[in-house]
Amino acid sequence: MTLTYTCAWINRHTGEQCSKPAKVQANLPLCSDHHQARTYREKAKRGAELLRYFKENPEAPRSAGWCYIVHLPDCTVKVGMVGTEGRLSARLAELHEDFGGNVDILAVLPGGKDTEAVLHSHFGSIRIPGKGERFDVTEPARVSGELLSFALSHGIHPEALPAVEEYREWADDPDAWAARQLA
Ligand SMILES: [Zn+2]
Repeated sequence: MTLTYTCAWINRHTGEQCSKPAKVQANLPLCSDHHQARTYREKAKRGAELLRYFKENPEAPRSAGWCYIVHLPDCTVKVGMVGTEGRLSARLAELHEDFGGNVDILAVLPGGKDTEAVLHSHFGSIRIPGKGERFDVTEPARVSGELLSFALSHGIHPEALPAVEEYREWADDPDAWAARQLA
C-alpha cells in the first residue's frame, strides 16, 4: 500500500487547505508550488535581515554582479541576478529564448545576490507561487506600482549599459549578430 499525502498549505486569506497531491518535504506534506513558496519565504526572511543590515551599514560591501528587473513577454516582472558582470547580456538572451520574445529591461542595479534578496523580500507579497522569480504586476495593487516605480526610478546602471545594448542588438537580429561575431 502506498501512502498518499495532500498539501497542508493553508491559504491565509480564505483559511482553505491546498490539498493537491503532495510529497513530504522537511516534515511537511507540500505540493511542488507550495514547497517552492515555503523555500522562498525562508529566503525572504534573510532578505529582510539583509535590508536592515544595509540600512544600518550603508557602506557595507555588497556581492558582485548585477541584479536585474525585467518585464517578460508573459507580462510578469522578473527580479533576478548574475553573479559576474560579464554574464548580463548572455542572461538576457537566455530569458529572451526561454520566454519567446523581447525582454524589456527596466533596471539593472549593483549588488548581485544581495540586492536581489532584498527586493525579493520587499516585494514578496506579489511574487507568483511556482513561477520562479516572477512577480505579478497586473493586479492594480499598490505594491505592483511600487515595484514598477522603484525599477524605473533606478533605471539601468551606467556601467551595465553596454551589456544591455549588446542584448538589444542581438535581439533585433540574432542571425546578423552571430555572423558579425564570427567575421
Ligand atoms: Zn499546495
